[in-house]
Parts: sequence; structure tokens; C-alpha cells
Amino acid sequence: MNFAKNILETIGNTPMVKLNKIVEDIDALVLAKVETFNPGNSVKDRMALKMIEDAEAAGLLKPGGTIIEGTSGNTGMGLAIAANIKGYKCIFVIADKQSKEKIDILRALGAEVVVCPTHVEPQDPRSYYSVSKRLSEETPNSWYALQYDNLSNTAAHYESTGPEIWEQTDGKVTHFVVGVGTGGTISGVGKFLKEKNPEIKIWGIDTYGSVFKKYHETGIFDQNEIYSYITEGIGEDILPKNVDFDIIDGFEKVTDKDGAVYTRKLAREEGIFVGNSAGSAIKGVLQLKEHFKPDDVVVVLFHDHGSRYVGKMFNDDWMRERGFLDENITIAADLIKN
Ligand code: PMP
Repeated sequence: MNFAKNILETIGNTPMVKLNKIVEDIDALVLAKVETFNPGNSVKDRMALKMIEDAEAAGLLKPGGTIIEGTSGNTGMGLAIAANIKGYKCIFVIADKQSKEKIDILRALGAEVVVCPTHVEPQDPRSYYSVSKRLSEETPNSWYALQYDNLSNTAAHYESTGPEIWEQTDGKVTHFVVGVGTGGTISGVGKFLKEKNPEIKIWGIDTYGSVFKKYHETGIFDQNEIYSYITEGIGEDILPKNVDFDIIDGFEKVTDKDGAVYTRKLAREEGIFVGNSAGSAIKGVLQLKEHFKPDDVVVVLFHDHGSRYVGKMFNDDWMRERGFLDENITIAADLIKN
């Protein structure tokens, strides 16, 4: 018999899939590491389990304890799955720009979810940073996971995602491109790959409204770079400890509209049903195409599943309301002309 002892043993070892139509303008081989195959349908299961295991080992998370986290959904899902197996409770604090599907799924897994306004400063007592900190101080026998600064996040990707990418490409990977939020994925994978081969280029995908690109290029934390944006999961208005700027070769920004349009393209052209940050990541790969030579092997990581975005970029009305649906408008105009 061949079975996992529990669902946590199915985390990791996700497939690598060649992209075809969507990258036809790129000469290099472009491979996608599709993280939706994890039990919580995102890459975050890896770091959630690692953060819990490290907290248990350090005596910070005790039997029957409560896990508190400010999470955009995917980390919460990973934490909730592990908590259910290990006997912990969860309270998650989430910003109200996140999709309703994400909140419903966290509640389905038994977590308590507190929703906070998106459009307030991180220092504001209503922000999801402030509320999660307060709850962690007030809740007895609790542990605050703190994914932004908890370096177990980066370690998870150094120990699992990085080695998988190296093995699946037979050590031939030349570029790694990935969306950056807490920074755990890019820093852990990037550190592992650069130790194997310092020539491998590590590119972070950022959003307009986020501080990463400017900070990486100038060392200046520019408040003017910060404004609200639609893209979920990537970009920040803070500098998380998990972003290791030294191992990152460059950041590329992708617009909200392009991220949304390319998320739809991935589903329709490649049959890969993934989330908003995957659309941004693949558009970033296309924007970077002059950096790639024909023999290069470019790996792009897709963080989470498309089902969480059916009410957003996969919904025509949502797209139309934001002026993101040009292509369909052109098709309609052509039909009228003919
Ligand atoms: N995409 C999605 C959908 C995410 O949830 C996250 C995590 N915030 C990221 C990308 C960025 O990953 P990381 O936090 O490891 O930088």
C-alpha cells in the first residue's frame, strides 16, 4: 500500500510544466512550478508547516495553543490545515480587499477570521498588522506566526522548493522569476539556487504601489511609491525581514490590469488555472524576454489556485468595471462592423 500518514505528508513535490503558447515570443525554455498541487492549493503550505514545526521545537507553540496571523489567505489555509492535524486553534486577520472566497475557505477549515480595512496605514490601529499584533498580545497560550519576519518562511523554501527546482531541471535552470510578498519564496529558492550556481539570475515580480523595486535599486524607502493596488499576494508597503535583497538580481513591476489579463490567459491558453500573482509573474517573464538566450531555462513559480479568483479576474463584470476588458470590447466592435 502506498499512502500518506496524513495530509501534511502530501505537501511539496509539485509538478514542473512547460509553457507553450503564452511564451511563444520567448526563445528560451519556460517552465512553471505549479504550486496549486499542494493540499491547500498554494505554495504557502510549505512555509506554514515549517513555521509551526520550528515554533513547536522552540517551545513557542504549546499543546492546545492558538495560532494568530495576519494573512492574505494562503498562509492561513496552510496554517489551518496543519493546525487541524496537530490540534491547534487559529485566528486570522485579513484585509478587506482579499477575495470573499479566501475568507470563506479559511472559515470552512475551522479558523476564526477577523476582517480589517485595506486603505489604512500599517500603523493605524485598524490595520491588519495592528489588529493581529493586539490579538497576539491579548490571547492566552497563543503564538504569533509573523510570516513577514519569521525566517522559517525562507527556510522552508531553501529546504524544499529550491532543491525541487534544481532536481526537476537537472541543474540546468538559468533564471528564476517569482512574485514577492513576504519574500520567503524568492529568498529561500534564490539562496539555494545561487549556492548551487551563482550565475543563476533571480528576478522578483513587484506591483505598482509597492516599495520593493525602488528600494532594491536605490536603497531608498520611498513613501511616494506606496498607493493602493488591486493585485493580490505580491508587493508591500513595508520591508519584510524575509526579503533578502542581496540575492535578488532585479525587480520587474507589472500593472494590475496586465496581472489580471495574463491570469485569464494562463487558464485559456495553457489550461493552467492559477491565481492573480501567477498572471503577474508570467507577464513579468514576457517583459524580461530580452534577458533570455535560446539555451536558457527559465523557471516561473505559480503561487495559488484560480478558484480563489472566480469572483474577480475570472469574472467579466469585475474586469469590465475596472476597464480591464479591452480585448473583448475589440471583439464586440469587430462583430458590429461585419
Ligand atoms: N502570490 C500569492 C497568491 C501569495 O499569497 C503570496 C504570499 N503573500 C505571494 C504570491 C508572495 O509569496 P512570498 O510571500 O513568499 O513572497
